[in-house]
Amino acid sequence: MSDRVYNFSPGPATLPLEVLQELQKDLLSFQGTGISILEMSHRGKEYEAMQNETEALFKELLNAPDNYRVLFMGGGASTQFALVPMNFLTEGKEADYVVTGAFAKKAYEEASVIGKVNVAVSTKDSNFSRLPKQEEIKLSSNPAYVHLTSNNTIYGTQWPVFPEFKGVPVVADMSSDIMCRPIDVSKFGLIYAGAQKNLGPAGVTVVLINTDLLEQANTKIPAIFQYKTFVENSSLYNTPPSFAVYTVNLVLKWIKNNGGLAAMETRNIKKAQYIYDVIDSSNGFYKGHAEKECRSTMNVTFTLPNEDLEKAFIAEAKQHKLVNLKGHRSVGGMRASIYNAMPEEGCKILAEFMKEFARKNG
Ligand SMILES: *Cc1c(COP(=O)(O)O)cnc(C)c1O
Repeated sequence: MSDRVYNFSPGPATLPLEVLQELQKDLLSFQGTGISILEMSHRGKEYEAMQNETEALFKELLNAPDNYRVLFMGGGASTQFALVPMNFLTEGKEADYVVTGAFAKKAYEEASVIGKVNVAVSTKDSNFSRLPKQEEIKLSSNPAYVHLTSNNTIYGTQWPVFPEFKGVPVVADMSSDIMCRPIDVSKFGLIYAGAQKNLGPAGVTVVLINTDLLEQANTKIPAIFQYKTFVENSSLYNTPPSFAVYTVNLVLKWIKNNGGLAAMETRNIKKAQYIYDVIDSSNGFYKGHAEKECRSTMNVTFTLPNEDLEKAFIAEAKQHKLVNLKGHRSVGGMRASIYNAMPEEGCKILAEFMKEFARKNG
């Protein structure tokens, strides 16, 4: 494995090495069938059993109540930006959006094509470096749902505690921090996550839905756009992204074998702390973008004193096998994406490198 590097890409992101090795081992023949999972019918009993197991594991790890179903959909998280309002922002209703980043804003914009939307709060004025306090969030009088983003991938903010919405169905985009820590699923009506950050490869979007919500869902849209269709057909209405689902299956087993979500949380806090400690003790050489109380354990964003140093940082980091650290253009600087699959060792080596770089250039 000598040519593998520490890949801090925001997504598609690094996968557990054990999962990649398992995929390689099974690639030609899935469970002794002589057929690759890539070549296998989604109507066969082997595929169906694997997908059912994936759903069960997903619910088990998140401790999801019985009335929730797991759906395997295509189109990425961006498709969910449109599907959520198509299904739930019905005639005469309004939906509330908590705008804490670029993806939250896109979700809001897609919903505004479908119906009436309200910005419950926006932290754009701080370039999304902070998350709002409970009292800043102003809901409309009777919203169909409220939408939030649990981790803002570009800016590196993550809710330490979710706000309370008193009975309003909460829809959460958890694309970049699903399974990074335990959550109380019963507080959410619908959770969605594009797999390519914390769950697997690009190509599948996992949705966890409280099926009670379906009673209010719009049935006057094409079947393929209805959550109801996916629930009733166990995500086998049409061909699911089968290879991506299988990879998610292996990632979930990896999470379980590594102690589940409580263990992920402990490890993620420790990993992030290596890097935040260097930022905080660098006498201003590194500046964190996110405010301290809402710093993400998944995406660590920071800038250096100037662009020349940032270029040098990226080039030198690469020599230490630390790659894909360049930040998003709307924040600049660096972003270290350290999802579940990033080993602790990768964060430690990055922190050591940062210390040394600041010492030489500060
Ligand atoms: C990456 C990301 C998206 C976009 O996902 P696609 O699968 O590319 O559509 C949406 N929301 C969040 C929070 C993300 O991190």
